[in-house]
Amino acid sequence: MYRHQYRCGSTCELPAGKIVCVGRNYAAHAAELDNPVPEEPLLFIKPASAAVPLEAPIHLPAGRGSCHFEGELALLVGERLSNANPADVPGAIAGLGLALDLTLRDLQSRLKADGHPWEKAKAFDGACPLSPFVKLDWLPDWDGLTFTLWLNDEVRQRGKTGHMLTPILDLAAYISSYFTLEPGDVILTGTPAGVGELLHGDRLALQLEDDWLRVETRVA
Ligand code: ZN
Repeated sequence: MYRHQYRCGSTCELPAGKIVCVGRNYAAHAAELDNPVPEEPLLFIKPASAAVPLEAPIHLPAGRGSCHFEGELALLVGERLSNANPADVPGAIAGLGLALDLTLRDLQSRLKADGHPWEKAKAFDGACPLSPFVKLDWLPDWDGLTFTLWLNDEVRQRGKTGHMLTPILDLAAYISSYFTLEPGDVILTGTPAGVGELLHGDRLALQLEDDWLRVETRVA
């Protein structure tokens, strides 16, 4: 069963909660899938049952078509946020981590074409591999964070939080105007360009900054 972990090894008592995600938060990723840039953040939720440790081998759902990786910066919520102001957000974020927003892309395309919700394509069991979190005892430069995803030793995604259409603090505040964020909930902040299909045997590495966090995993 998945439990939140801190990278430093100190115990994380926060329960695994819902995972609130944003679609198309980087203009270059919206363009690569021929999607328009939304006027307001496009939100969806993965349940706690979607979370798995990022270090564990990834099991692709069988018979469900293509499964894409989307590397994303993840925020671990440490204090309740409801109708928050962006200024309230920094004190409520307990940790920074990395995540894969796994997406059954063929199924999502069909659901989108039919005007149906995306849940089956985005919220299935195992759809949210989560890294251990870097415990935030200090305030980072929220718009200056970078992360990188390698697929089979090739750089495929580079995210810079300064390129987000809705910056982190505004995004968390916006989310909290619809969904109260409880301690243990996670926010996925959107994926930069470079998403692609995962195949059996693929190796993935995700890294936050140069040396804050690095996690390697593979597709079973
Ligand atoms: Zn995503």
